Order: sequence, then structure tokens, then C-alpha cells
Amino acid sequence: MHRRRALKTLALAAAGLGLGATPRPPKEAPVSVQTVTGPVPPEDLGIVLTHEHVMVDFIGADKVSRDRYDPDEVFRTALPHLKQVRDLGCRTLVECTPMFLGRDPALLRRLSEASGLLLITNTGMYKAPYLPSHALDQSAGDLAASWIAEAQDGIEGAGIRPGLIKIAVNPDAELVPIQKKIVRAAALTHLRTGLSIAAHTGPGPGLEVLDVLKAEGVAPGAYIWVHAQSNPDQSKCLEAARRGAWLSYDGFPPTRGDNPPKIEGHLRAALDQGLANRLLISHDAGWYHVGEPGGGTYRPYDAIFTHFLPALKKDYPGIEKTLLVDNPRRALTPEVKKSS
Ligand SMILES: [Zn+2]
Repeated sequence: MHRRRALKTLALAAAGLGLGATPRPPKEAPVSVQTVTGPVPPEDLGIVLTHEHVMVDFIGADKVSRDRYDPDEVFRTALPHLKQVRDLGCRTLVECTPMFLGRDPALLRRLSEASGLLLITNTGMYKAPYLPSHALDQSAGDLAASWIAEAQDGIEGAGIRPGLIKIAVNPDAELVPIQKKIVRAAALTHLRTGLSIAAHTGPGPGLEVLDVLKAEGVAPGAYIWVHAQSNPDQSKCLEAARRGAWLSYDGFPPTRGDNPPKIEGHLRAALDQGLANRLLISHDAGWYHVGEPGGGTYRPYDAIFTHFLPALKKDYPGIEKTLLVDNPRRALTPEVKKSS
């Protein structure tokens, strides 16, 4: 009896020391993308629309509130459109509404479960007047700490984690101090989480954003130049892409018409420059407008599939997979990208 106990104790001690077993390297957690219904392997994202919205509220950060809308009405309004785009083959939709502008992860989770579409939400902050007053006083490190906490612990206790950092910069030639701080906070968040930084940039200083990121040690590949189509100087966008940034051509209109719209021309120009692997496309559609009766006019997410892809596929074989599957998967897979 005593001997058996002694042997058992010895065996437990050996196990504790790792004796008698082949040492194994610690298993790395598989990389996954956070959706509002949980983590998924990047290869399961399928066809992705990388910049859309379900709901927006432009009342301003000091007045924005969950009491300003009926989530059931938003649910009923958005659901048919999400189902429609799922039936068109889309598997994942990135909802880019930031906090203080109508972000509602729990509502997105309901919509994802009901529609069968994977939805991705974000952390980060937009620009004045959609910034809370405390954001003006906090340091980049303070802001980053709260965004990193959302990425690690979930948003507002609902257990839903962001799959992207969404910020904004001002449209002027140079970054204003507050937006520079937001970009720096995004860089710090990226270095801890590996989440990409989608910055509403448009005609704004995208190249300066790259410089700020570099100063923080972040490579251009972590940056998505959102609304690239609205920059009148496309050469700047193309330069950013050549440096490794993503260009998001995300304003595809509801129809193509006889003459392709400007955005398609910009996209084709970038493709003709050999930049196919730096490009993302989306509609920036949806938009249940809080404060308008019935949410106003909700725009469907269908035109890329129904009006634009047929012509693009004819001229650029394989482009659908590159722009809607491979590039979004690469842009959304968390990976810390350090500048060299
Ligand atoms: Zn948008």
C-alpha cells in the first residue's frame, strides 16, 4: 500500500517535471478572424464585402444613445438585405460603423444568426464631432488601451470581439492633432492585436498616415485607405498601394449605367498598374439612419454582384476571387505587421 502510494507520488512528480515524456513545443493557437458570432478560420470567410453599414447615427457623440432607435425595427429593415446578399454568394460582411456612431454588436449578432451571413464589427474611433469629450484629453496610449481591451475581452461585456480597427482622418491636406493621435492609437492597438486599421481617408492625407504608422513601427500593409475613390489625386493612392497599403474602392453605386462610373475607372487604373493584390471593393451601402422615419432609404448590397462583376470578370479573369475572397482574407487575418 505504502509502496503503491510512493510510486504514484513519484509518477506525479515525474509528470510535473516533464520526465518520461517527449517535450513538445507549445502549441500555437490557430489564427482566426473575429466575427460577431465568434472566431472563424480565415479560409472560411468566403466572399467578403469589406466596407458596409447596417446602422448609422450622426447625432454626435454627446447625444448618441441606444434609446434613440428600436433595435427590432432596425433588425426587420436590415435582414432582407443581408439575406439577399448572402443569396448572391456573399459569406461575410464587414460592418464599419464605429462606436459613438451607432455601433451595436448585439444587434449585429442577431442579424448574423438570422441571415446566415458572417458579420464583423470594429473597435476604434472616428473624428469630431463623433468623438466623446474624454477622447480629446486621453493620450494615444489610453485610447489604445481601451481598444485593446475590446479586442481581448469583447465589447461592452457582450463577449463580441472586433475583427478590425476602424478610425477616420480629416479630409484636409495635413492630419490635425486629434486625428494624428487617433492614428497613433490605432498603430499601438495593431501592434498588440494584429488587427488591420481601416481609416476613413478619402481625399485626406493617406500618405501622412503611412508616415505616422511607420514612426510607431507599423508597416503599410496594416492600413486600409478607405474611400480611395474620392481622392481626386489617385497617384497618391497608387503610391500608398505600391508601398504596401490596401486601397478600398468602396462606393460602388446601385447601377452601372451605360458609362461606367468613376470608381470603376479608378479600380481599373489600379488593376492596370499591377496592383490587384492591394485592392478591396465594397458598396458602403445599407445605412438605417437613426432619427429618420423607418430609418430612411436602406441601400442594398447587391450592385457589385449584379452590375459590376460581369464586366470586370470579362476583362480581368479571376478578378472576383482576388478582390472578394483572397484580398479580404489577407486584410482581415490578424497579423502584427512591423515596419522595417
Ligand atoms: Zn462607410
